[in-house]
Amino acid sequence: MSLANGLSYLAIPGPSVIPDRVLRAMHRPAPNIYTGELHDLTHSLIPDLKAVARTDGNATIYIANGHGLWEAALCNTCSRGDKVLVLSSGRFGIGWSEMAAGLHLDVELMHFGERSAFDFDQIETALRADTGQKIRAVLMCHVDTSSSIRNDVRAVRDLLDAVGHGALLMVDCIASMGCDRYEMDAWGADVTIAASQKGLMTPPGIGFAWFNDKADRWREDADLASRYWDWRPRAKPEMYYQYFDGTAPTHHLYGLREALDMIAEEGLENVWTRHETLARAIWAACEVWGQGGALRLNVADPVHRSHAVTSVGMDSPDADRLRHWCEFQAGLTLGIGLGRVPEDAWFRIGHMGHVNAHMILGVIGTIDAGLKALDIAHGPGAVEAATRVIAGTVG
Ligand SMILES: *Cc1c(COP(=O)(O)O)cnc(C)c1O
Repeated sequence: MSLANGLSYLAIPGPSVIPDRVLRAMHRPAPNIYTGELHDLTHSLIPDLKAVARTDGNATIYIANGHGLWEAALCNTCSRGDKVLVLSSGRFGIGWSEMAAGLHLDVELMHFGERSAFDFDQIETALRADTGQKIRAVLMCHVDTSSSIRNDVRAVRDLLDAVGHGALLMVDCIASMGCDRYEMDAWGADVTIAASQKGLMTPPGIGFAWFNDKADRWREDADLASRYWDWRPRAKPEMYYQYFDGTAPTHHLYGLREALDMIAEEGLENVWTRHETLARAIWAACEVWGQGGALRLNVADPVHRSHAVTSVGMDSPDADRLRHWCEFQAGLTLGIGLGRVPEDAWFRIGHMGHVNAHMILGVIGTIDAGLKALDIAHGPGAVEAATRVIAGTVG
């Protein structure tokens, strides 16, 4: 017997739930790409994209996933052989460093592990040791989706300024954009990248690079800036096709328009607060489960926990068993323990984008039922703890 039939919830950390409004906006015949509505719609996206990243800089759209935007950021700022410093708290930080190495950059990877936020003393030592300012860019994930660690972007900027290092600060916000508070200009990021399929609630397939004037000066002598990845014509197109260097991603643009409207209607601050409250409900449940058994939040310090994704550790192979039970008995798909060892001891809850209180309470109740069904020891009262957070009677 299975109780999985009914509306399923894909609670993996991307692609996230696509709102019906976005799906409906995309359900249309192919539009004319040469003139008319699609042009107006595309122009209208740019200011709204700047607004979600909190920047007055440039916003560009690529037909690419997040990996493509990793490459776009590097190609527009670096030359073969240039040195970059990658600060990592998980698989995605390492992934960006591998992308940089593949582009023949000289990569210094500072990996702080899967459970720890950055150690600023170590970073300071590395920056001060770079007396010749060979490091051209510092790369970091705002949220590393594999570990669910969120790092402090502003603090990295402050450290660069304090030691007088002129490197660019490039930030991967693929998981955090539209979920965790992010202030590109106020926090001093020079380049920000994101993709459509997480907090921005649109199918995978388009990505975004935002950059300021300083980053554009790095573009001057960046010899990796190939014709297709070049962000300049995309940021200031003289002809419509230059937005994408070819055919527009027509249906994605309609979907994104709707998603950005939804964010604007709710208000970005409210979007962030919703994510924070729902995340707190999940943490409250996890803490209670953990009191009575082998289940723990990956990130000990709430300050460093993402509001978009939560990584949870168990005894191997209980995380896999729990994921399977939730999927096949209850219609809830949880994320795998991507990049973790052993992988079957970890799972992740995606709570990014189009998620609300009843969905998150459903996730928590379902996990609670799964723990019971599988006879996995856990503390009692997790659902109660979560409902108190949702009800606003704690924290
Ligand atoms: C999802 C994600 C990526 C990879 O994006 P793809 O679209 O799968 O290429 C990179 N970085 C972070 C932080 C992510 O969450």
